[in-house]
Amino acid sequence: MNVRYELPALGYDYGALEPAYTAEALELHYAGHHKAYVEGANKALDALTEIRGRGDFTRLNQLERDLAFNVSGHILHSIFWRNLEPNDGAPPAGRLESRIRAAFGGTDAFRRQFCAAGAGLQGSGWVALSWEVTRGSLMIHQIHDHQDNVATATMPLLVMDMWEHAYYLQYRNQRERWIVRFWDLINWGDVARRFDNAECSDLALDPEELRATSVVRLRQR
Ligand code: MN
Repeated sequence: MNVRYELPALGYDYGALEPAYTAEALELHYAGHHKAYVEGANKALDALTEIRGRGDFTRLNQLERDLAFNVSGHILHSIFWRNLEPNDGAPPAGRLESRIRAAFGGTDAFRRQFCAAGAGLQGSGWVALSWEVTRGSLMIHQIHDHQDNVATATMPLLVMDMWEHAYYLQYRNQRERWIVRFWDLINWGDVARRFDNAECSDLALDPEELRATSVVRLRQR
């Protein structure tokens, strides 16, 4: 039996982000769209269990696609809800701010690139500020759907939903207005906590550790 994905608690009332994000838009987004991704992820896992049992993998490619799409959609939304808090536009601070400055030249330059990535996104997707584990640096990703155009070994810290379902009910086709209001909703304390955890990630690719691996011992024979 697979461990099930579950819709995480929102942590605040549907009206908590008004007027920037209406209760109607938030409820539909969370209880409708996000819930559907949770269900889709569990359905894909169940289907994979079923075809594995039968040993018939003719549907595997589609199920792999369904799994990546729905799991990514679920996780991105889970991060998104935690990223949001009415903050009156307070900027990032502390070590996160210094890492942003190192990667992008400053908070303003970071904001301009992040917002441009959202405004220019083709089709449905997200913009993510991510920690790239091997280089130990921040980068911005323009994610297509929920799972495409992402570099491996990156941990999303801050995500902006640019699917029409995220903003159309309230902002119609004015996606730039949604991006501006989103910026005023960022909970930088939450982003900093995720950054602290991401920074400890390690893919065990450190050159110093290479000598200790069996591959090298094999080569040296
Ligand atoms: Mn969404």
